[in-house]
Amino acid sequence: MPLVRRPRVPLIFAWATNASGANRPSAFPPIDPRRGDSRPPLLAAAALALAVFLIDAFTPLDIAIAVLYVIVVLLVASTESRSATRFAGVACAVLTVVGFLLSRDVNESAASLARCVFSLLAIATTTVLTLRNLASTARLRGQVQMLNLTHDAIVVYDMNDVITFWNQGAEDVYGWTASEAIGKSFHRLTQTRFPIPLAEIQAELLRTGRWDGELHRVRRDGAGIVISSRWALWRDPAGTPIGVLATNNDITERQRAKAALAKSEAFLAEAQCLSKTGSIELHLPEGNMVWSDEAYRILGYARDVLPNTGHVLARTHPEDVDLVLAVRGKTRAGEPGIDVSHRLLMPDGTVKHVRLVARVVSAKDGHFEYVGALMDITDAVLTQQALQRSLAELAHVTRVTTLGELAASIAHEVTQPISAIVTCGDSALRWLNRPQPDLEEATLSIGQMIRDAKRSSEIISRIRSMARKHDPSFAAMNFNALVEEAIELVGRELQEHRVEVFVDLCVPAPVINGDRVQLQQVVVNLLINAAQAMSGITGRRRQLWISTTASDTKHVTLAVKDSGHGIREEDAERLFTAFFTTKADGMGMGLSICRSIVEAHGGRIWADSPPEGGALLQLALPLHEESQP
Ligand code: ADP
Repeated sequence: MPLVRRPRVPLIFAWATNASGANRPSAFPPIDPRRGDSRPPLLAAAALALAVFLIDAFTPLDIAIAVLYVIVVLLVASTESRSATRFAGVACAVLTVVGFLLSRDVNESAASLARCVFSLLAIATTTVLTLRNLASTARLRGQVQMLNLTHDAIVVYDMNDVITFWNQGAEDVYGWTASEAIGKSFHRLTQTRFPIPLAEIQAELLRTGRWDGELHRVRRDGAGIVISSRWALWRDPAGTPIGVLATNNDITERQRAKAALAKSEAFLAEAQCLSKTGSIELHLPEGNMVWSDEAYRILGYARDVLPNTGHVLARTHPEDVDLVLAVRGKTRAGEPGIDVSHRLLMPDGTVKHVRLVARVVSAKDGHFEYVGALMDITDAVLTQQALQRSLAELAHVTRVTTLGELAASIAHEVTQPISAIVTCGDSALRWLNRPQPDLEEATLSIGQMIRDAKRSSEIISRIRSMARKHDPSFAAMNFNALVEEAIELVGRELQEHRVEVFVDLCVPAPVINGDRVQLQQVVVNLLINAAQAMSGITGRRRQLWISTTASDTKHVTLAVKDSGHGIREEDAERLFTAFFTTKADGMGMGLSICRSIVEAHGGRIWADSPPEGGALLQLALPLHEESQP
C-alpha cells in the first residue's frame, strides 16, 4: 500500500473549518492509521539540535537559544515514536546543560543560569505534553484500526457533507483511498441518488438523530452500486450537530440475487399456472401442508386458508374419499412415493380431475415430510374420455363392417345348427310316431336339438355383442378362450378360403384385463386379414399359425402367421396408419383400430415379414396383475 505523505498533525491541534468560516472541532479529526517515513524529521531534528548546541556553547550570543530544543522535541515527536521523543527530551536537556557549562563560568551570570533553567523547563514541559499526546494518538489510532477491521464502509462527514473519516471498508466499497476522499463532498464524490429528497432525510436525521435507507451510488471505476446506509447524527457537548457517521454496506449483489430470485419465482408461478401444476409440501402425522399459489387455485381455496390434509379431503369427490384416505394412511406409514389420481368436487358443483405425485424428502422418528406436485389433469382426462368414445364408436363401425364381410359365413354358422335342429326334430317325431314309440331314441334326438339350439343361440349372442354399441368395460378374462372364440367366429370363412389352421395356446392360460368385445375384434381382424392375404395363393398350401406365449412374466404375446403374399417393404411402415389399404374394396381402418385398442389396453402390436414368406402379426398385452407371479 502506498504511503500517504500528509503532515502529521498531533491530534490535539487538529481542527476543521466549516463553510461558515468558524473554527470548531471537526466531527472526526482526520487521522491516518498508517505511519509515514520517520527519517526526514529525525535528520532535521538532529541537524537542528547540533546547530542549537554549537550556537549555545561556542558563540557569545547572550540569548535563550536552548529554548529551540523544544522544536527538536516536536520534530522527533512527529515521528510518533514515544521512546524517540523521550530520548530527544532527555538529550536536549543534557545538551542544554552541557552547552551552559561550556559557554561560561557557572557562577558568572545568574541571568544565563535562569535562561538555562527556563529552557530546561520548556523542554521538559514540551516532552511531557507531547508524550501524553502521543499516547492518546496511539489509543485513537488503535480504535481507528479496529474500524478498519469491519467490512462496513464507515464514513464520517461534517454538516457540510465534507468527509473527515474514511475507513478501509469505504476504500473497498467506493474505490477511493482515504487521502483521496477526505476533504471532499461525500454525496458529490459518490454521485448519491436518494430514495426521497435529501432535505427530508436531513430533517428526519435532525429530529430523530438517525436515518437508514437504500442509496444508489457510483464507485470510482464508474460502476453503479446499491448501498444500505445507516446514519447517526453526531452532536457536540452543547448539542450542536457537528457531523454524521454513516455505516454503509454494498448490497448490489444481494439486490441482484433478490431480483433474480423474484424473477425465477415469477417464472415458476407462471409455469405452474400454464401447466396447471401446483407444488405442495406435506408434514405427517400432523397433516400440515404448504401450497403454492397454483395449488390454492386448483383446490379452490382463498390464500388466507391454512393448508392441511383436511381441506384436501373436504374437496375430494365423495366417491374418491376412500381412495384418498387409503393414500393418507400409506403416507402416515412413510410410503416412499405416492402417485394418485382422483376427482375433486368444487363448491360450484364442477368436477376436477387431479393427480398428486409426491415423495418423501425427510423421515425422522415417525415424522415424514413429502414434497410433490398437484396437477389439474381435467382437460387431459376429458380429452382422453372423448378419444375413447370416438375410438369405441369407430371400433363399432368397423366391427359392423367386419360382420357384413362375414355375413355369408355367419349365416351358415347360424343356419347349420338350425337345420340340424329341424333334422333332429323330424327324427324325434318319427321315433315317437311309431306304433311302439322309441322314447330312448326320441330323447337322444331332443337332447341333440337342445345342444344345437344352445349353439346357435351362443353364436347369435356373440354376433349381437359384436354388433352392439357399448362403452368399453374392462374385466379379467382367459386370453386363450378369447382367441378360440375368435377362431370359431371366422372358422367358416377360413374353411371357405381353404386355410389350414394350426393353433398352439400356452399353458397355463394367460389371464388379462380388458374389454372382451374389443380384443375379440382385434383377433378377428388379424385372422380375416391373414385369410384374405392367402386367398389369391395358388400352388402352395394356405396355412395359418395362431399361438399364444407368455413372452415374459408380465406379458402374453399373440402371433398370427400366414403363408400369404406377405407385406411389401415399402408398406410395412404404413400398415397401422388409418386408411392405408392395398385391397380394392378395403377401408384401411382395421389395423389402425387394432393398434388403438391394443394400446388402450397397455399393449403394442407390430408386423414382421418372416424369411420363409407370408406375414407375421404379433401383439403383446399386459397380464392381469393378480395373475402375475
Ligand atoms: P384393410 O383390411 O381394409 O385393407 P387393414 O388396416 O386391416 O385394412 O389392413 C391394411 C393393409 O395391411 C391391408 O390392405 C394389407 O395391405 C396389409 N395387411 C394386413 N394384414 C396382412 C397380412 N396378413 N398379410 C399381408 N398384408 C397384410
